[in-house]
Amino acid sequence: MKYLEILKQYENSTNVAYINDKEKITYKDLLKYSDRLAKYIIKTLGKDDKTPIAVYGHKSYLMLVCFLASTKASHAYCPMDICFTESRVENVLEVTDSKLAFFTEDLKLDKDFNILYKKDILQIINDESLDDFSCDTIGNITNEDDVYIIFTSGSTGKPKGVRIDYGDLNNYIDWFHSVINHEKNKIFLNQAPFSFDLSVMDLYISLVSESTIYTLSKNVQENFSKLFDALKNSNITHFVSTPSFADLCISMKEFNEENVKNIEYFIFCGEVLTKKTATRLLERFPNAKIYNTYGPTESTVCITQIQITKDILEKYDVLPLGKVKEGSRIEIKDKDKVLKDKEVGEIVIIGNTVSPGYFKNEEQTKKSFYITEKNERAYRTGDSGYLSDGNLFFLNRMDFQIKLHGYRIELLDIESNLLKIEGILQACVIANYDTDNKVKSITAFVSCSDDIKEKSVSYIKEELEKLIPHYMIPKKIKFLDSLPMNNNGKIDRKKLQEM
Ligand code: AMP
Repeated sequence: MKYLEILKQYENSTNVAYINDKEKITYKDLLKYSDRLAKYIIKTLGKDDKTPIAVYGHKSYLMLVCFLASTKASHAYCPMDICFTESRVENVLEVTDSKLAFFTEDLKLDKDFNILYKKDILQIINDESLDDFSCDTIGNITNEDDVYIIFTSGSTGKPKGVRIDYGDLNNYIDWFHSVINHEKNKIFLNQAPFSFDLSVMDLYISLVSESTIYTLSKNVQENFSKLFDALKNSNITHFVSTPSFADLCISMKEFNEENVKNIEYFIFCGEVLTKKTATRLLERFPNAKIYNTYGPTESTVCITQIQITKDILEKYDVLPLGKVKEGSRIEIKDKDKVLKDKEVGEIVIIGNTVSPGYFKNEEQTKKSFYITEKNERAYRTGDSGYLSDGNLFFLNRMDFQIKLHGYRIELLDIESNLLKIEGILQACVIANYDTDNKVKSITAFVSCSDDIKEKSVSYIKEELEKLIPHYMIPKKIKFLDSLPMNNNGKIDRKKLQEM
């Protein structure tokens, strides 16, 4: 069954669909409000318009109403968290050519866009007269229509929009709901902001199972005592997060089964799950199940899963990513050659959750996506790995994309933005790894004119903060007279890495 049809069954449900430290909403209200907003969208843009709708904010239930309304009105939504800088927000609004955008948080932009803010949205969703507007196109979204576009760091210095169509999303939901045994009425932790595809896992699996999404705002996540209280009082059953966030929780010694009582599942995605993290969690929560899942935004959250049991922990030094889901397959490739079991190459994902490509970005789409002879969508991940006994294993990236604290970052994105700062002549950004092969920080090497040097590191960081999200700002910035070059005339990254 498709997602909107499943949700329609909960039209009269008074279960809480979404709750945070300040507000909550029931299924009944979520469906009623999103219906009104969908009607407003159709009234405003006409029933044939399908341009994307940008939604900006931070974990408000109103964002959820906007997502659902966009889907009901057959528009893709583009989620943007408050971690997006003004320039990135403007860039997304320009690229998507959004005729209508919903902002649940205030943000001052230099250019004029058609934006509805919180008070406008509240007025629309409380406008009962919209109930009388009859509209036969509500809920007519087809599997080929884009349902959302998530913007991720792009190597050119501008974010690229990953298109996910309604078919991809339905196929993903179908599969992942079966991984947790089609259980209903649970409580899902939402850790990731909505602009990251990890959040798609908790939002949608929770909604189709008439469960509650318990969200942790930035404010709560940044304060240990608030975080611990929230976890303790939430009654979360499904802990969906990056391994980095679990590490943060593990650093609080009270984070255990005695205090946080109801956790049945820990579900991880987005970065390497180390043996250390999984072992510690099993010690603290012996009755919970831990799942490692793998996948890029370009293939709708994840496509493999495996339960990490004590046996698995004993058997492997590096944890497997698991078996690929039904409807998808993985090929390990060296250019066009498909490699055999245990041979290392690029992980290529083929199947029914692969994105149709990047939004209005044919060049990048051609680079990473292709259609197979059997007319299936395929995506070259840029991850190197291998298959062994049906299990997928991840080794490392083949390019300059990294994961830092769970965030996907293109190092070239930071470099491009450093070069936009007046006076910076050369820039190279390097990732620093810990003993578990996880990125622990990033360092930028720059050469620049003398007046910039005098203004120092804090000046560069301040300028950079106007251009890229805070989590992409390098921890260290080092000045060199000029950056070392290799024989090909390119900046010598290896040498900088050694430095
Ligand atoms: P994102 O699009 O933000 O989900 O990031 C996708 C990338 O995260 C993948 O291409 C991998 O490099 C990395 N990744 C995702 N899941 C895992 C995992 N379970 N283990 C290791 N790396 C992962």
